[in-house]
Amino acid sequence: MIDVTSAQKLVLQFASCGSSSTRPFCRSCLDDTLAQDIRADCDSPAFDKSMMDGYAVRAADGIKLRVMGVIPAGGAATEPLLPNQAVRIFTGAPVPPGADAVVKQEDVQRIDDDIILVQPVRVSQNILRRGSDMKIGDVVLTQGTLITPAVLGLLATLGCASVPVVKRPTVSVLATGNELVAVDQQPTGSQIRNSNGPMIAGLAQSYGANVVHEALVPDDAAQLRSAVLSCVKSDVLILSGGVSVGDFDHVPKVLSELGLSTHFHQVKMKPGKPVLFGTLGSTLVFGLPGNPLSAFVCFHLFVRPALQAMLGHSPKITPIEVSLTMDCHSKHDRPTYAPAKLHPHGVEPLPWQGSSTIRALVEANALQVLPAGEFHAKAGDCVPVLLLT
Ligand code: AMP
Ligand code: MG
Repeated sequence: MIDVTSAQKLVLQFASCGSSSTRPFCRSCLDDTLAQDIRADCDSPAFDKSMMDGYAVRAADGIKLRVMGVIPAGGAATEPLLPNQAVRIFTGAPVPPGADAVVKQEDVQRIDDDIILVQPVRVSQNILRRGSDMKIGDVVLTQGTLITPAVLGLLATLGCASVPVVKRPTVSVLATGNELVAVDQQPTGSQIRNSNGPMIAGLAQSYGANVVHEALVPDDAAQLRSAVLSCVKSDVLILSGGVSVGDFDHVPKVLSELGLSTHFHQVKMKPGKPVLFGTLGSTLVFGLPGNPLSAFVCFHLFVRPALQAMLGHSPKITPIEVSLTMDCHSKHDRPTYAPAKLHPHGVEPLPWQGSSTIRALVEANALQVLPAGEFHAKAGDCVPVLLLT
């Protein structure tokens, strides 16, 4: 049986960054990924700019100055400033030629058309110099940057009216199982509601995929075959349930009959051992075990890195060391990925009752990596943790 790290390497061999397209600048570019470096189209600020409401002056002049005019934000200096002159100026306005400092209005006494400076003046004070934030031609955003609200603001500053973005991978999700009913159905007998479908689709969307199809499929080979065939146009197909060795686990056989190249089936891990990964043409196919915790863990270990690579981000697969907030004892026959909650002061193992738990996942923002065998650690000891953000 393959180990987690080798399985992740295999996934990443097949997950390559998608093509790019340009989108008109708008808020819906949020969470897209830049497909190219972006350069400044002008100096910013484009002129020496006042950072205060006050007076533009010459630092070398005396303390009594004649006020010659007013420059509001958006205005322009009409005349250069001559010795012993000042100009009333406001935040964001261009500093007139000849002036080399701005004095805050609180630091002057105004007497009719004159001002008296009550503080010494330093050259350049309260002036943001042209190009001090960025210079024309500077690369200010790099390819692979996630478009956050701040990036959106910077793109607007740069006049980037069409935004080069990486094409989001398309994802289809099939939840398999005779026992499953949809959220709006009342389960009868041993039926349960399909929680994996919405959870996996939500995870895929939150990591940047475009979820194009989500369906429930019974444990029936013929129906599974046609459901899979209707998803092969997607970049990624994620199935849940039916990947193990039970009589009703049709997923591996149906996929292999359809021509799947299986890259791994079963990984040395807990929960999630039956997980499957293969390629059907150019579609990456993940078969996640049906237990919700298994599906969640396998998504984070295998599907998320694939989506990150397809979006041109570096896949986050390396655990970090974090100190425990409490003692931790475990005994597992395989390396185990346990739900955990990262706090500013350390990581808290969350209680979980086997792989069918879904409640513990609501609080989980990390997975604690526990070794195979007996494990004992004390509060304050450092343990490996995978972040889920
Ligand atoms: P399987 O991987 O098909 O053997 O399913 C393992 C367990 O997960 C069974 O108890 C299933 O009922 C449960 N399960 C399978 N699919 C889902 C799903 N979509 N939502 C919630 N539980 C599921
Ligand atoms: Mg099943």
